[in-house]
Amino acid sequence: MDQVFKTSVDYVKGVGTTRAEMLKKELGIFTFEDLLRHFPFKYIDRTKFYKIKDINADLPHVQLIARLTHKELIGDKRVKRLVAQVKDDTGTMELAWFQGIKWVEKTLVPGQAYIIFGKPGSFNGKAQMAHPEIEPYSPEALKRKGNLTLQPGYSSTEKLKTFSLDSKGIQKLTATLLEQHGKDIHENLPQYILQKNRLMGRQQAYRSIHFPEDATALHEAQHRLKFEELFNIQLKLLKNKLLRTQKFKGFIFSKVDQYFNTFYQQKLPFDLTNAQKKVLKEIRQDTQRGVQMNRLLQGDVGSGKTVVALMTVLMAIDNGFQACLMAPTEILATQHYHSIKSLVGDDFIEVALLTGSTKQKARKPIHEMLKDGRLQLLIGTHALLEDKVQFKNLGLAVIDEQHRFGVEQRSKLWHKNALPPHVLVMTATPIPRTLAMTLYGDLDVSVINELPAGRKPIETIHLYENQRLRMFGFMKQEIAKGRQVYVVYPLIKESEKLDLKNLEDGIEVMSREFPLPDYRISIVHGKLAAADKEAEMQRFVKGETHIMVATTVIEVGVNVPNASVMIIENAERFGLSQLHQLRGRVGRGAEQSFCILMSSHKLSREGRIRLDTMVSTNDGFKISEIDLELRGPGDIEGTQQSGVLDLKMANLATDQELLTNIRHQVEDIFEQDPQLTHPENQILHQMLQTKSGGLTWDKIS
Ligand code: ADP
Ligand code: MG
Repeated sequence: MDQVFKTSVDYVKGVGTTRAEMLKKELGIFTFEDLLRHFPFKYIDRTKFYKIKDINADLPHVQLIARLTHKELIGDKRVKRLVAQVKDDTGTMELAWFQGIKWVEKTLVPGQAYIIFGKPGSFNGKAQMAHPEIEPYSPEALKRKGNLTLQPGYSSTEKLKTFSLDSKGIQKLTATLLEQHGKDIHENLPQYILQKNRLMGRQQAYRSIHFPEDATALHEAQHRLKFEELFNIQLKLLKNKLLRTQKFKGFIFSKVDQYFNTFYQQKLPFDLTNAQKKVLKEIRQDTQRGVQMNRLLQGDVGSGKTVVALMTVLMAIDNGFQACLMAPTEILATQHYHSIKSLVGDDFIEVALLTGSTKQKARKPIHEMLKDGRLQLLIGTHALLEDKVQFKNLGLAVIDEQHRFGVEQRSKLWHKNALPPHVLVMTATPIPRTLAMTLYGDLDVSVINELPAGRKPIETIHLYENQRLRMFGFMKQEIAKGRQVYVVYPLIKESEKLDLKNLEDGIEVMSREFPLPDYRISIVHGKLAAADKEAEMQRFVKGETHIMVATTVIEVGVNVPNASVMIIENAERFGLSQLHQLRGRVGRGAEQSFCILMSSHKLSREGRIRLDTMVSTNDGFKISEIDLELRGPGDIEGTQQSGVLDLKMANLATDQELLTNIRHQVEDIFEQDPQLTHPENQILHQMLQTKSGGLTWDKIS
């Protein structure tokens, strides 16, 4: 937007200081631009007239023409309500007023036909309309209404309404602003992009989004603004990506040598899946180009990301570099440490574990061996980021479960070297492609979309509270076969006390139902000290306990192949991606695995959709799409800091095709004109210079 749109909203004609203050406070509208970008959230269709028989409470605002047959003031001493009957050739309907009764009553003439406009509701099971707009019918009046077509509806607040800034008031201001400065809205997309995509001009789009001439114009305006929004994001992301590849030289892993080959030929206990091979090939190419790798590895739970990470680590070691693997929790880091140790065996590489609870005495040798280069792989938590942790030559940083780390933390890893290490980010939270393109648009993305052969799909069952006995029976049956069982309780911050109570009750019930000495139970929750947590975990990992009762601390990464049953209590309280993560803790061994979702009978619509989704599919990507549809990007982990939330027009759940198309077009632009020096791209060059659109983008890694 041009400079003039940065002007304070005070200066819109007719606003005044008080109302400007209110707009700032209540709606965050500070500038002309903010006001223009306070788009209508609905449009009221005044082009169509309804018949009474077609009117029901589900409809938005409607208008109709009907004749008044009766009016009546209701209430004893004080009039409480005015009701009127209207009638057309299809039926009758009631109108009601609770305020301004006297005045309205005077204007109503029985026998007269009216144009009536309002939101239908229902009263005693019959259609009713409260506080409609009403005006005597005449051909002239009808003509006037016909011109109104689509009326914008703006969100407002109770407070603003007392300052005459209801939807109508805001509409007036917007109209004034467009009159004053509409002509100052300049195009920000190149002419050839407009033509190719048949887009409405920018100025017209802003006019039509607020005051559409008709449905077609509205649609075109929405499309144009959506396009612009997504286009600008991709422009910035791809520019960043380009800059990075130009600016940051990367270490060259020129060879694969004895570490990689020995592991591959002698130690790897299974064949890699094709997807794993494909990803390794991509990584191999990345690390030979002389440019820093920034790759996001997406793969569903159990798809085998750890092996890929390990083999990438071995590539680094083969080329004389050190590597680190950072995980968000101590449990996970420890798990990685053990599983990597067991994959590579003893005396193969020098690997150490560093977490918050690593003893001071153990730290010293780690620090020393890191500095002199003897330590080849360091696995750990945030502890890796401490200043004391100094590598001799860090060539690769693998980050597991990426969304738990902030941008700032990740960039700390970069600065452990003169040259930034190659970065491989792994996430087990599949996210929809559109979201990946937007969130991680400047990373390269690899996907493992295939589970190792021979895995039996997990069977998911939804049981209600009164079927608990069935659940106990099933647990006993599986334990008798030698399997282990997880029982997970929600732990959500707002109601931590209640949850803890739930957990405690649950433990009590479980202990009664599964008594010693036949059954043994591990208990893991957030309130335990790290060492106790670890001990309880290890008892379960080693098969000493049959049941692990836990809060969601086990959500990510934990790997106990013999555990084949996951029971999720109060499953309706978990989000979809969390449910999917939890379920992914089973199905890791050769046995048929099960997930039982326990819920109460009272389910919200969304709660039901979530549980039904879980029962019907194991596909993490499909689940993530549904999650995005249900919640919007705002609630999906990792989006909070990303700017995706600033999307006003585009919807990542429904605009996938458009986004993909735009992404390709922007890629083409940079391919043909990387510096944006062609005259027709000047407009884009300028756009990137200014921080317009309110979106700020930090480097992802
Ligand atoms: P995630 O992608 O969830 O991190 P892991 O890397 O923990 O998955 O792998 C899950 C399990 O599958 C591990 O026990 C691992 O050894 C095993 N695994 C990985 N790749 C294969 C494969 N190609 N064939 C068979 N098992 C595999
Ligand atoms: Mg993992």
